[in-house]
Amino acid sequence: MGKLGLGLAVGCAVASCAIAAVMVGRRVRSRRRWWRVVRAVDEFEEAALTPVGRLKQVVDAMAVEMHAGLASEGGSKLKMLLTFVDSLPDGSESGIYYALHVGGTYFRILRIQLGGQKSILGHDVERKPIPQHLMTRTSEEFFDFIALSLKEFVERTGNNSQYSQVRGKGLGFTFSFPVKQTSLSSGTLIKWTKGFSIDDMVEKDVVECLQRALSRRGLDINVAALVNDSVGTLAVGHFYDKDTVAAVVIGTGTNACYLERADAVIKCQGLLTTSGGMVINMEWGNFWSSHLPRTSYDIDLDADSHNSNDQGFEKMISGLYLGDIVRRVICKMSLVSDIFGPFSSKLATQFALSTPLMAAMHEDDTPDLSEVAKILEETLDIHDVPLKARKLVVKVCDVVTRRAARLAAAGIVGILKKIGRDGTGGITSGRVKGVKSGKMRRTVVAIEGGLYTSYTVFREYLNEAVAEILGEEIAPYVILKEMEDGSGIGAALLAASNSARSVDTVQVL
Ligand code: ADP
Ligand code: MG
Repeated sequence: MGKLGLGLAVGCAVASCAIAAVMVGRRVRSRRRWWRVVRAVDEFEEAALTPVGRLKQVVDAMAVEMHAGLASEGGSKLKMLLTFVDSLPDGSESGIYYALHVGGTYFRILRIQLGGQKSILGHDVERKPIPQHLMTRTSEEFFDFIALSLKEFVERTGNNSQYSQVRGKGLGFTFSFPVKQTSLSSGTLIKWTKGFSIDDMVEKDVVECLQRALSRRGLDINVAALVNDSVGTLAVGHFYDKDTVAAVVIGTGTNACYLERADAVIKCQGLLTTSGGMVINMEWGNFWSSHLPRTSYDIDLDADSHNSNDQGFEKMISGLYLGDIVRRVICKMSLVSDIFGPFSSKLATQFALSTPLMAAMHEDDTPDLSEVAKILEETLDIHDVPLKARKLVVKVCDVVTRRAARLAAAGIVGILKKIGRDGTGGITSGRVKGVKSGKMRRTVVAIEGGLYTSYTVFREYLNEAVAEILGEEIAPYVILKEMEDGSGIGAALLAASNSARSVDTVQVL
């Protein structure tokens, strides 16, 4: 080989080495970036872990906080509100009842016909949007609109004889805003939420406002029960099954209520009820404990929210937030690597990923995760995501959903612990007693809300965790029952079971 040939050969070798080095370097960098993504997901998973030991700490914390909330006003982040519901429907109710549900941009009117023996013979529902301008005007205009809508509904759904049955009968009123209840059929509005701001109503009795509007429209219906949606769910549960002692709503938000002994409501000395019990509205979305596995994403979500430092439990478990937690993790994954291509501004947009879409990615059973690809593309503007990255996205959805479901499960067992239905000695005995299964009582918890009813994986994780925490000896005694439309039917059922009674069964001495 001549000098020229040698030079060429050396040149080629150097060039190929350089190319190889660049390629290896690229691959190393790309692998490094990939591992950064994997690490981000692993760190999140680690911080969000909910082993059964931790869940049991959450159970104890819930029971302790419940106790504190019952002991004194402001004693806990759990408000533990009195509902003045001291007895629940038992299936014997009969007749026609109506219910109104005001809780958002839509309101609903219901009519049910009860036939005794746990039978609901007829059920009509109408959903109507509340005109935007009425949400900020006067209480008179607002309730006039509601009353007129009810009147039209009564005339449309009932013939004359049924209309006369309505006269003097009970109406259940579900009002999903913070209310300080003063009796079963009265309560003052604490503050408006969800875009409403009818200033002249704050601190006024909402039932009185509605009742006056009904009279103005010539409707002779008595507002017999003002209820919260979780209390409605408990009422429906109890109507069908008398062993129902608690109810949980897990939809856009979350809440729970349960049947407590009146003498356990220490903050309300001299509370006398005919039944000796009282349903307590826990407002559990505001529960907080240092045992909750909080991640940096939860801290950021809270800081960005309009109600920072509030509703900590709700922000970890309810439908409004789960999709947004996933979005935040994907955003971090995108920032530490180019695995999702150029950074999409959608990833930085709050609530850009809704929980139902997150659930659809989680439940994608196509072999190439095509649904995940489609949602990332259409919703978050992220294109051509490789399969291995799509798999990681599914994992993130799983971590978020699993944690939410398991924490909700711990909350439920916490309630059972507070009332001695978890097979231990309750919270005051300290020591966990051995349980003879013969002594355990059948216990039913009613559950409502889109997250539980429509998201199969969430439901399965929750059911599984309740059984895991309780253990195989106790779990068979605890039944979680899915309830349909507690907020509507439940209010009507409570109106039915309470309008039959002529005397006030709750007294505060
Ligand atoms: P609300 O809580 O507003 O009264 P729902 O009980 O129907 O209404 O719950 C609706 C919420 O449930 C939605 O905001 C959403 O977060 C969640 N949800 C509904 N469907 C699904 C679904 N298929 N997968 C996951 N979450 C869902
Ligand atoms: Mg609801």
